[in-house]
Amino acid sequence: MDEFDLIIIGAGPAGYVAAIRATQLGFKKVAVLEKDKPGGVCLNVGCIPSKALIHQAEIFRSGAELKEMGVRVDLNGFDFAKVYQKSRKAADTLSKGVQYLLKKNNVTYLTGEFKITGANEVTSMDGKKLRGKNILIATGSRPRSLPGFSFDEDAVLSSTGALNLQKLPKKILILGSGAIGMEFAHVWNAFGVEVHVVEMLDRILPVEDQEAVEVLRKSFEKRGVKFSTGTKATEMKKVKDGLEITLETNLVGGGNTQKTIEKTDKVLVAIGRVPNTENIGLDSVGIKTERGFIPVKDYYQTSVPSIYAVGDVVNSPLLAHVASKEAEIAVEFIAGKKPKHKKIDPNQIPGCTYCEPQIASFGYPEWKAKEEKITYAKAVFPYRGAGKSVAIDKSDGLVKILFHPQTKEILGAHVVGAEATELIHELLLAKSAELLLEDVATMIHAHPTLSEAVMESMRVGEGWAIHI
Ligand code: FAD
Repeated sequence: MDEFDLIIIGAGPAGYVAAIRATQLGFKKVAVLEKDKPGGVCLNVGCIPSKALIHQAEIFRSGAELKEMGVRVDLNGFDFAKVYQKSRKAADTLSKGVQYLLKKNNVTYLTGEFKITGANEVTSMDGKKLRGKNILIATGSRPRSLPGFSFDEDAVLSSTGALNLQKLPKKILILGSGAIGMEFAHVWNAFGVEVHVVEMLDRILPVEDQEAVEVLRKSFEKRGVKFSTGTKATEMKKVKDGLEITLETNLVGGGNTQKTIEKTDKVLVAIGRVPNTENIGLDSVGIKTERGFIPVKDYYQTSVPSIYAVGDVVNSPLLAHVASKEAEIAVEFIAGKKPKHKKIDPNQIPGCTYCEPQIASFGYPEWKAKEEKITYAKAVFPYRGAGKSVAIDKSDGLVKILFHPQTKEILGAHVVGAEATELIHELLLAKSAELLLEDVATMIHAHPTLSEAVMESMRVGEGWAIHI
């Protein structure tokens, strides 16, 4: 039987990063087992192809700006299949890149579906057994389905089916207004599809700070995206020329709902993801799941000391950078190094939605600070106060920070607008380095940059912003 120092099940951002980090830390025999493609959901049917679509949607939208310059833009010949092909090229390039990195680091890469069959053993579907001093579960997640709306990837799409569309529908209904739903809403709207986003909760992008979300919502609505909040899709009927979806909206005042029937060509169900924890042999070693997730102790150790779990299979935000960081912490611990943190601090995880305008945040949004009765003050600086935003015609946006009024500790930060997903990192560095508002407020920021809005937000908190 082949023996390894570490066996990793799954080659997504959790699994492949764990493997490379393990070899960096001196492990000689590391195996990654993957039933599909290197790079997991993120590279193949998640982060990367979706960003490739978003990038092309932005190029398409810039046609309007060219028109303003008097350029005649002729959209004849536009072929969405080409957009799709470009997104596949980005995904394939990066998936091959992961394979190259694993090889370069002398990681054994085995294809096939594997399950745990003992505290130190995994077995493939065709009976090949491997022994590992340690096992890391990184089997990721899949789209959550909605009863009555089973995925056929034709009329009813999951995010995977949505990424594989090669022909645009006229109209699409998106169920769920989280990051995935909003990113597809942005892409399809940019390419001229009629988009209606339906959200069960009373607000879109429900985890985000709603003052920031309002900027985004207005911008989407101006471009024709329709939102229905407090609304559930309850029934679907296939008709000759599309779908009829029954929507039930809570009426203000509580109690009653209003039923409407919405006609659409397709529906995207983007209501979250489910961890892949069934059929991976957890029973064989007595690991119990909680709502499908694998409970973990410090350093992502499961109830079996030789088995660890990281990424989308554990109950932390289902994000690629979270998966990779958890993998690094677990592997550093297994290697006998003392990682800086036992687990990721939930208040220091950046969350990004890459639509137009972008939204990025970490730590407390205002609604949560109120809910948890946290003492806070807030400072908001509008993008239009930073000259660069006006120069590039992207002045819709704001930087908002929540901080402790006495200690001036940063409790949360929210950026909505152009390049928000890049700008958030200066704020996060300030938080993680335990800087205070005055440290960022007094640091010279180049002019003209959008980063000046970050500096000015800190100055708002200190009471001396210059440009508002
Ligand atoms: P996965 O990436 O799911 O990888 C798990 C791997 O394990 C898979 O390749 C699977 O085939 C393999 N596997 C499962 N079971 C077995 C088995 N029994 N044997 C062998 N192999 C197995 N996150 C971000 O941070 N930023 C984004 O912009 C972003 N955009 C996204 C857009 C979309 C459309 C989607 C769907 C997700 C997006 N995400 C994004 C989320 C991100 O993709 C996931 O959080 C991330 O991929 C989780 O990594 P993971 O390694 O835990 O799991």
